[in-house]
Amino acid sequence: MIARSPDGFWRSSLLAGQDWLDHQFGTAAAAPEGGFLTLNQIHSCRVVDALRGADGQEGDALVACEPGVRIAVKTADCVPILLADPVVRLVAAVHAGWRGTLKDVAGQTVRHLSSRYGSDPANLLAALGPSIGPCCYEVGPDVALLFQDLSPARKDRQGRAYVDLREANAALLRRAGVPAAHIDAAGAPCTFCGGPEFHSWRRARVAGVRMFSVIAARKAFSDSKGAGLN
Ligand SMILES: [Zn+2]
Repeated sequence: MIARSPDGFWRSSLLAGQDWLDHQFGTAAAAPEGGFLTLNQIHSCRVVDALRGADGQEGDALVACEPGVRIAVKTADCVPILLADPVVRLVAAVHAGWRGTLKDVAGQTVRHLSSRYGSDPANLLAALGPSIGPCCYEVGPDVALLFQDLSPARKDRQGRAYVDLREANAALLRRAGVPAAHIDAAGAPCTFCGGPEFHSWRRARVAGVRMFSVIAARKAFSDSKGAGLN
């Protein structure tokens, strides 16, 4: 379940159950503290490892395996996806608009975690945050057609087509091997009709205004783990 926490951030109950990580879906009202890495997001399926010099690179998925390294995704209608592997102890932040969704940025990230870090997709946990919902995400017939195999568009009485971007990305994660029970999206609000708490590009048409969603493995956790080994 995705729900608002008392501090104003939205969180996934699935990820909140992991004591080795911190995560926040930011809003227009709740901005995470600075000190995180972000990408120059280009609606691609490019995955970037959070190494030195990663900040500001072009891409749409960031991966961090080092405790304390905070990574973020910027969105205003697009789907922010936060991923975690409790076994390998790594995290990822993914930006999925309709273009990135169709390029399978979610699945590409899962495959990258497997090939590069040895993650088993069956262990991955995923949370999909506030983004434009199927209530409001109207697309043209050409785009609706592209989503047919993934998450068929809903048609209203006037024949307008609406796509569920969160469900499309959940489907891609399932296809990449992430168990359905490990994908948390229920309760995520719509940025378009959810009120002024959220930035919505479609509603406001203001470029460059974004919400930040952050995830990181806890540094203190690895320190205490290390101390326990001595
Ligand atoms: Zn809506």
